[in-house]
Amino acid sequence: MTGNQELTERWQGALMDNYGTPRLPLVRGEGARLWDADGKEYLDFVGGIAVNALGHAHPAIVEAVSKQIASLGHVSNLFMAEPPIALAERLLQLFGRDGRVYFCNSGAEANEGAFKIGRLTGRKHMVATQGGFHGRTMGALALTGQPGKQEPFLPLPGDVTHVPYGDVEALRAAVTEETALVIIESIQGENGVVVSPVGYLKAAREITRATGTLLVLDEVQTGVGRTGHWFDYQAHEGVEPDIVTLAKGLGGGLPLGATVAFGETAELLKPGHHGTTFGGNPVACAAGLAVLDTIASEGLLENVKRAGEKLREGIEGIKGADGGSRNPLIEHVRGAGLLLGIVLSEPLAPQVQQAAQDAGLLVNAPAPNVVRLMPPLNLGDDEVDAFLRALPGVLDDVYGDGRSGE
Ligand SMILES: *Cc1c(COP(=O)(O)O)cnc(C)c1O
Repeated sequence: MTGNQELTERWQGALMDNYGTPRLPLVRGEGARLWDADGKEYLDFVGGIAVNALGHAHPAIVEAVSKQIASLGHVSNLFMAEPPIALAERLLQLFGRDGRVYFCNSGAEANEGAFKIGRLTGRKHMVATQGGFHGRTMGALALTGQPGKQEPFLPLPGDVTHVPYGDVEALRAAVTEETALVIIESIQGENGVVVSPVGYLKAAREITRATGTLLVLDEVQTGVGRTGHWFDYQAHEGVEPDIVTLAKGLGGGLPLGATVAFGETAELLKPGHHGTTFGGNPVACAAGLAVLDTIASEGLLENVKRAGEKLREGIEGIKGADGGSRNPLIEHVRGAGLLLGIVLSEPLAPQVQQAAQDAGLLVNAPAPNVVRLMPPLNLGDDEVDAFLRALPGVLDDVYGDGRSGE
């Protein structure tokens, strides 16, 4: 058995440096628990970046994947298999609308699919939001509203306008009858769990409808139960997008993305327009079905709302080291369900992430002042309690260091 240090050195010798060196080598997971190569145990509130919807090694996924790989692992899109059919049917049922599904392997690819459907409208202009994240492939990167990520790769395809997130008037001004699509996240996860203002999606729908522009909702992070709804936009009354993109939680740990289009939009992709060899892979789709089945059978949408509320209240109630009524490092908690961002009063999120890891808690810092939590949707009360017991010490450690000017 090799330990943390040896695996880290081997990583550095053989893997590309595009992620830097990851924080930890992990060897085993069970539910919301993980173990590293030195045998240390962690409470996992990263969840593979909102991917491990049912936690690690959930029996329903293990069984579905094992059965499928033992009978038919891959057929290519020259043939068909039942799992992608069943998963597409199930997704459309959950959306409650007529449409069609294109399966792929990641969030970026799901958005590439939307990008290409947008081009098939005959229009070229697209509108996305500042701070938005839609993936790293060239089309998805063109939509991503984070100049630092784009800059080394210019020029990017498309004619994309990025508008301030949540600003209805800026959106109205940017969208014209030349605009193919508008792409929005209802919560900007990678940008630090920034929640769109009430009415924003509804306004976006009205604006895009008036110009005949497609409304694409990127639910790669917020979809599949993460916020306590099957898809987060369903919390926003009356909004009916033309396209929804999914990935992350959909495969419960297997690589699986989907571009779901509704109504006439679903008819734009014609034979030969798009494709990917692994799209609709039976094993990944079997895992996706197990995820959706388990969310339904175990009442996980309710659990997400309940556990998310308990977590949020618990964090906001954490007292300061001096017994003060509130911890001075916690400004507030934002997000929905089990996609939460602890907004800090100082840019100490990386330090909190490290101190938490030392204390056996895995969290993520998507922005200098935001600690993001994305635990499994089946998170138990005992796990929420364990997190809330450990967090105050972590914050006190970090804030003490911060104040001493480290
Ligand atoms: C993670 C993410 C993506 C990109 O997904 P990948 O699978 O990393 O390509 C796109 N959009 C949103 C909202 C995401 O959170």
